[in-house]
Formats: sequence, C-alpha cells, structure tokens
Amino acid sequence: MKPFREWDFTLGKYGTLCKVIRSSDYSVFTVADYHVDRELFDSGNSVILRHDVDRRPENAVEMSRIEAALGIRATYYFRAKKHTFKPKIITEIADLGHEIGYHYECLSDAHGNMEEAIADFEKKLAWFRELVPVRTICMHGSPLSKWDNRDLWSEYDFGNYGIIGEPYLSIDHGDVVYLSDTGRNWDCNSHNVRDRVRSGIRVEMQSTADLLEALATKQYGKLHILCHPERWAANIPTFVAQLIKDSLTNLVKWTLR
Ligand SMILES: [Zn+2]
Repeated sequence: MKPFREWDFTLGKYGTLCKVIRSSDYSVFTVADYHVDRELFDSGNSVILRHDVDRRPENAVEMSRIEAALGIRATYYFRAKKHTFKPKIITEIADLGHEIGYHYECLSDAHGNMEEAIADFEKKLAWFRELVPVRTICMHGSPLSKWDNRDLWSEYDFGNYGIIGEPYLSIDHGDVVYLSDTGRNWDCNSHNVRDRVRSGIRVEMQSTADLLEALATKQYGKLHILCHPERWAANIPTFVAQLIKDSLTNLVKWTLR
C-alpha cells in the first residue's frame, strides 16, 4: 500500500478529476444519454459518469455542484431508503441538469421473493417519479446479501416500466473501461463482491493520480466511471471516519471472498 494514498478521496481531488475530463475533451454522458445516442458515444472520446448514492446524500449535492460548475452532467442513483431518499436533495441535483435514477435493492430486501420484489420496485419507482423523470435504474450491490438484485430482470422486463437502461445489463463494456472507487482505489476486481462488470479491457489503477494521468494522455477512448459521493470527503473528520469505515468494509468483503 502506498503511504497516504487515501488522501486522494477528497472533494477537492474530485474537482481536479472533473477538470481533467473537461480539459482532455472527453464528452461526458449520463447513463440515459449513452442509451439515447449510442452513435455519438461511440464516435469520440467518451466518459459515462455515474454516482451511486448509498449513504450521505448531502455529499452528492456537493459533488453535483462541482460538476455543474464545469458544465458536466452525470447520473445519480439514489437508494429508496430513509437516509438517502431526500426529495429536496434529489430535486436540487436534478435542477442542476443531472440525471436521477433509482438505485434499487428490491430482491435482497424481499429475500429473493420475486413477486414481493417487483411490487416494491413499482412502488418506489413511483416515489421517484413524483419528483423527477426516471429513465434508468441501477442495482445496489448489497454485498452482505446472498441475493443479486439484477436477477429481478431474469423474471421481469424493466422496459415495461419505461426504463431504457441498467448499467450492469445494458452498457456494452466490450471496449469501455470500467472504473469504480469501491474499496478506495480504482482496481475494480480487488474489493467488489458484486458490482463488477465484464469489461474487455483490464486496467489496474491504484490512485486517482493514475486515473488523472490516463485521462490527461487519453490512454483510453471510452470509460465508465463510478464514484460514490460519500467516499469523497469534504473535510478531515469526515475523511478519517470514512477511511476507517471503508477499511473495515474491505476487511469484511475480503473475508467473504
Ligand atoms: Zn450501492
């Protein structure tokens, strides 16, 4: 482990990441935009910028403001839980031009009961749609559950709910590099129990500095970047608390694997 690698994950560093994406002339796509204009995505250097709001939605607001100030639109997937489903925050982020989606976990919540899960999905999708339009959804990994939430779509069709995409099922990662901040690094295979994708390109990055370098030199033409807003700290006490929490989570996941 590189010393102090973790000091990476601050909102300041995230701002630098956005600036480099901008200055390197990558076109930034929301998940919905990727599905609507696939030809445009394929035609140049493109980044899908995705956020899963698992905790601390107020951090998502900070992040969305940084992006908006740079003219970047991203996708924010919110869990429909008491601590994350905050109408004021959701509408504020949507008003900045970002896409809002539903970060569903219906199958793990229903302990594998398909009928219960789809009824729950319909109900909660409606909660979101009372606030904002929802065109894409994304499963929550639920690392401690034995149920895989995307399996809901082996039985049902999300298209019947006016949904045009699910990153784990409908993004073609054949030539798209997938990078996630899960586990406080960008190595997508070391810590993720479930939220992995089958990408044609295997990349190992240890720090945001590596990612910035790859973006600045346009090393990869197409990327799908996942950042969890709660991992990017606004101040030092939050940073230390998150570091301890992530380290413990990594330990649990490592044990599970
Ligand atoms: Zn999640």
